[in-house]
Amino acid sequence: MHKTTSARLDQPRSHSMAMRWLLTGGLAVTASTLGLGSARAEQAQAHGSTHGPVAATTKPAHAPAGSGAPTTASVSDTPDAQTLAAAMQVQALVLQAQARQKDTAHASPKPAHNPAHGSGPASATAHTAALAHSPDLHSSAPKPSSRAYIRAKASALAGRTEPARAATAAGHAGGEAHWTYDGETGPQNWSQLKPEYETCATGQRQSPIHIEEGATLPGPAEPLLFNYQASNGSVVNNGHTIQVDVEGDNTLAVRGSVYKLVQFHFHHPAEEKVNYKGFSMVVHLVHKNAAGQLAVLAVLMDPGASSPLVEKVWTHMPLDVADRVKLPVGLINLVELLPQDQRYYQFIGSLTTPPCTEGVLWMVLKQPMTLSRSQLRLFSQLFPNNARPAQAVNNRIVREAM
Ligand SMILES: [Zn+2]
Repeated sequence: MHKTTSARLDQPRSHSMAMRWLLTGGLAVTASTLGLGSARAEQAQAHGSTHGPVAATTKPAHAPAGSGAPTTASVSDTPDAQTLAAAMQVQALVLQAQARQKDTAHASPKPAHNPAHGSGPASATAHTAALAHSPDLHSSAPKPSSRAYIRAKASALAGRTEPARAATAAGHAGGEAHWTYDGETGPQNWSQLKPEYETCATGQRQSPIHIEEGATLPGPAEPLLFNYQASNGSVVNNGHTIQVDVEGDNTLAVRGSVYKLVQFHFHHPAEEKVNYKGFSMVVHLVHKNAAGQLAVLAVLMDPGASSPLVEKVWTHMPLDVADRVKLPVGLINLVELLPQDQRYYQFIGSLTTPPCTEGVLWMVLKQPMTLSRSQLRLFSQLFPNNARPAQAVNNRIVREAM
């Protein structure tokens, strides 16, 4: 704790204070003069969603300390100029969001139509956006082929009621029901918002799940064969999360199939729980194979050292819902996100957002990665809770790849 304090005071004083003020909306100015309260507040916030109410962030500086945070976190926490810039962006975003919420308490977010951003409707969910990025969308006149047939059949098998093309069209037409993570349009009521969302309630293989090692099927690990490389992409705030649509040939081979990375996005707190432990964040890497089947890799994250990948994404954080920011060429390399230990849990589940489509191959990496408290705070200010609660396992086999 004291180590944390001194590390923070080592930073340029004006920079440090400005950063803290931005991150806390000016609420922790007093605490920042000591470099003490806000560190605790950040710690409380980082754990708030998984271990207690967010109100913990308002504890005064002299409140009893919580569980000890890794002292190394503070060193890597050092905000650099990019984080500062991102913090300013987020501060503006939060103010905009607050104003918007006041104006349209229950209205669906309806951003101005922008033809230039055709593939990123604000109302599209993180996962349906993935579906929308089917390669065939980019060919103007897809010919009937065996591949298309297989894809359609796979879609049908996966319980998808409409092809990706139709889903996209619906998104553009504003056909998606407004859904949220709390209140009347929250997870408990997703199935009632639209007939297509029925699976959210009736599905028997829903995600996320709480993984209990005592109930897994331990076995030798089939290695996950990653072929990730420096790639182009763009970041979008789709109203439910921050998502990066990735271009290029990034693949994950597993179970005899090659899945191509389509997009990745973030949830805070993590949707997955392992042995009753929650995590501060999870990154979902959404892949799709030639047959249209989805495979999602979950990388859990806890507070600690700063994440280089997160830093890159936050630096280019979109300024508003549906705003899309193109990333510098070759900026994104998902290798940076992978832990050393690549053992994982594997099971069949669903999209964790409406329409909760099933038939998704899930792999949850056991070893969590880290992100700094500043990085976590930037996201949690925009999305205080964008995690669907754990769903019933229903005698599903969860393979524990040892
Ligand atoms: Zn997700």
